[in-house]
This record gives sequence, C-alpha cells and structure tokens, in this order.
Amino acid sequence: TGFAGKRLVIDNVSKAFGGNKALKGVSLTAEPGRVTALIGPNGSGKTTLLNMVCGFYRTDTGAISIDDRRLDSTGPDAVARAGVARTFQTPNIPEGITVLEAVVSGRYMSNRASIPAAVLQLPGFRRIRREDRSEADRVLGLVGLTKYRDVEAVSLPLGMRRMLEVARCLISRPGVLLLDEVASGLDEHEVEMLSEVVRKVTAAGGTVVLVEHNFQLVLSLADTIVALAHGEVMATGTPAEIESNPRVLNEYLGI
Ligand code: ADP
Repeated sequence: TGFAGKRLVIDNVSKAFGGNKALKGVSLTAEPGRVTALIGPNGSGKTTLLNMVCGFYRTDTGAISIDDRRLDSTGPDAVARAGVARTFQTPNIPEGITVLEAVVSGRYMSNRASIPAAVLQLPGFRRIRREDRSEADRVLGLVGLTKYRDVEAVSLPLGMRRMLEVARCLISRPGVLLLDEVASGLDEHEVEMLSEVVRKVTAAGGTVVLVEHNFQLVLSLADTIVALAHGEVMATGTPAEIESNPRVLNEYLGI
C-alpha cells in the first residue's frame, strides 16, 4: 500500500504575464516521504507555480522535472500520466454521483477542475470494476469516508468534500500529490484529520506539496517550508528556521 513518491525538482523557473513577473527564478525540491510546504502572501506566485507544475502554463525559463524526467513543455495530460495529482480549492463535483463513483473517477481523469462528463459516460463506469472498487475502498478507508461511500457526493459537508478531493487524487497512487489550500474553511478537528491523512501518505513514501495559508498547520506538518514573496524564494528551511526568520516574520506577520 505504498505510494512510491517521486522527487519533484523545480529549477530556476520564471514566468511573466505581459510585464508582470509572477515568478523570478524559483527553485525548490520536494522529496518522497516528506511534506514540502509552499507559503507566501497573496500575489506571491504560489498558484502560478502550482499551475506550471501541472502543465497549464509553459515556463519562460527554467526546468520542472520528476525523477529526472522533464515535465515542462509537455502539458496537463502528460503531467498527470507522469504521476502528478492535484486537488482544487473548489472541487467541481457533478450532481447525482456517489462518493464511491467520485473517487473512482480519479482513475480516469487528468488534473482538471471538474469530473468531465466523458468520464461518467465511459462504458461500464456505473458498474465499477472490481479492481477500481478495491482501490477506492482502500483510499476511502485512508481518508475516513468508508461509511459515506454510497452517499451523493455533493451532499457532503465541506470538510468531507475536501477529504473526497484528496481521495480522488490518492486512488491513482500519485508520485507527487499537490494540495492546494485544502485546509481553508475547515474547523480545527477537520484540519487535524486532514493532517493525519497527509502524515499517512508521507509515512507510506508519498511526496506531498502543500500550498497553504494556515501558518500553524504548515509549521506542524511540513518537513521543509519554501516561503515565496513577490515571485521569489525568500527563505527555505525547517519549520523552526522559517518561524524564526526575520524576513519571513516581517513579510507575513508585519513584525
Ligand atoms: P498567489 O497564488 O501566491 O496568490 P498568484 O500566482 O495567483 O499568487 O499570482 C502571482 C502574480 O501573477 C500576481 O501578480 C497575479 O496578478 C499574476 N497572475 C497570475 N495568473 C495570471 C494570469 N493568468 N494572467 C495575468 N497575471 C496573472
């Protein structure tokens, strides 16, 4: 039940939108078995970097690779096939499908924001294949949604929909799991449950990249924190190093 995490290397990546330099030579590495957190104020480039890794945007300069295989200049489908899975802040779950079906759909889709109608119309999708079912049961157990498997997915409360979004990624056993603000809007108990899931994934060898506003969560969960500001890496370090970095404190907390 391991995850066979892959090493994600972002090397000196830059991206401009017109005259607006969103990323200026950003480098970071995410290792298997580790949580690497990406933090930064609004507009610092986190979403742009995530979208570049997923192949939505081309890099202007620099390279993105997993396990020494170049991903930049491929595209979202190739990136998904290479084993990168991401969550979305507002997952778009169609009405009328169960939790089980939503999780199984993760095996048939690339890194898109919604479950495409095409997936639901695949021959036999509604008669879920045995191997898909056992994989789905495995990840539903991991995220604690087993008893909701036959419930309509859209009817779940926010915290459980977030867990479902994570499960949908995990069913493909991703080499790299990108979590985009998964904790936003969750209460303390739900954040703790989410942390437990992330710890299980890294304990099983998975590579996790956490893009997150919740500084306390990042401090408690991350092995390495990369702090962005104005499109540049301001600091990289352990939670203890980041927490005591004067530039980070100034930028984030105004101290
Ligand atoms: P964050 O996720 O850290 O809030 P973003 O990556 O969304 O930061 O934004 C970084 C910068 O890039 C901002 O100045 C933003 O306006 C700009 N930007 C992001 N995406 C686009 C886009 N598609 N077109 C133009 N500018 C963009």
